[in-house]
Amino acid sequence: MTRITLVQGDITRQSADAIVNAANSSLLGGGGVDGAIHRRGGPAILQECRALRASRYGKGLPTGQAVATTAGELDACWVIHTVGPVYSQSEDRSALLASCYRESLKAADELGARTVAFPAVSTGVYRWPMQDAARIAVDTVRNTPTSVEEVRFVLFDERAYDAFATQLR
Ligand code: ADP
Repeated sequence: MTRITLVQGDITRQSADAIVNAANSSLLGGGGVDGAIHRRGGPAILQECRALRASRYGKGLPTGQAVATTAGELDACWVIHTVGPVYSQSEDRSALLASCYRESLKAADELGARTVAFPAVSTGVYRWPMQDAARIAVDTVRNTPTSVEEVRFVLFDERAYDAFATQLR
């Protein structure tokens, strides 16, 4: 059984086997969680991301997929980069958001990670409504078979924390 825990705070301050990054498909950094992870994790992460762009992901990491790199100076062994979908009112992209959590857990299993910290993927610049994103995140983790022992959602503010807490109840 995977334990799901909630923390309000900065994901770059967490200690975990793997920290998930809400990346964009370029893998070359951005704002929000992505910017914070590269800032605190240092240049080793970007260096591996650049190598991935030059090899496996020449066209970028597709939305809904996940790939791992070093965690640099973060208190973790790996950063798992996943690309969330931009929210759309005219198109249901929830399968892609669910895929981010599933593919990140699959990457974590392949690495042997036992504790994984997730941000609320797609709820920042990509504008996904928080309560709906929390429902998809919690449902997907609950329904994905994995060897990960703890999935920790790290929510930046109280509004995000409350949305996830409501889903867990
Ligand atoms: P996306 O492009 O997938 O929407 P963002 O990084 O813009 O990604 O936002 C995702 C969520 O992460 C938002 O809810 C945002 O408030 C939150 N966030 C931003 N910085 C951090 C951080 N350092 N730690 C945890 N969560 C963060």
